[in-house]
Amino acid sequence: MEEKDCVFCKIARGEIPSEKTYDDDNFFGVLDINPKAEGHTLIISKKHYKTLLDMPVSLGSELLDAVKHVGLKLIKDGGKAGSLSSDNEVSGFNLIINNGEVAGQVVHHLHVHIIPRKNGDGMEIA
Ligand code: AMP
Ligand code: ZN
Repeated sequence: MEEKDCVFCKIARGEIPSEKTYDDDNFFGVLDINPKAEGHTLIISKKHYKTLLDMPVSLGSELLDAVKHVGLKLIKDGGKAGSLSSDNEVSGFNLIINNGEVAGQVVHHLHVHIIPRKNGDGMEIA
C-alpha cells in the first residue's frame, strides 16, 4: 500500500532525501524538517496508513519497539539516561500522534513524533 503523491511514501521509496536514524521491517525514523527541538524524530510506517486507526494492531509492538529504540538513543546521546533533572541534556521525550486534520495532522500518513525534552526547555505540550 502506497500513495504516489504522499511525502512520507516518497521518503519510504527514497524519492525524497531524508536523514534516517532508524530502520526496521515496517517502520523507519527520520529527523523532522521543522523540528520542535533538536533531535525531533518521526517514526513513519513504511506502508501508507492514514492514521493509527488504519494500522493493524499486530504492528503495535514493532511500533513501540521503534519508539523505545529511538527514545533511548536520544536520551543516551544527550547524556544521562533516566535522569529527570539535568540541564542541556535530553532526559525525556514526548510522543505525539496527530490523527486527523482536526487533531493537527498535516501529513496523512501515520507517524509518531518523538520530541526530546530538556529540563527547563520551556516547551509547552498540551
Ligand atoms: P503532522 O502531520 O502535523 O503530525 O506533522 C507532520 C510533520 O512532518 C511536521 O512536523 C513536518 O515538519 C514534518 N515533515 C514534513 N515533510 C517532511 C520531510 N520531507 N522530512 C521530514 N519531516 C517532514
Ligand atoms: Zn504515504
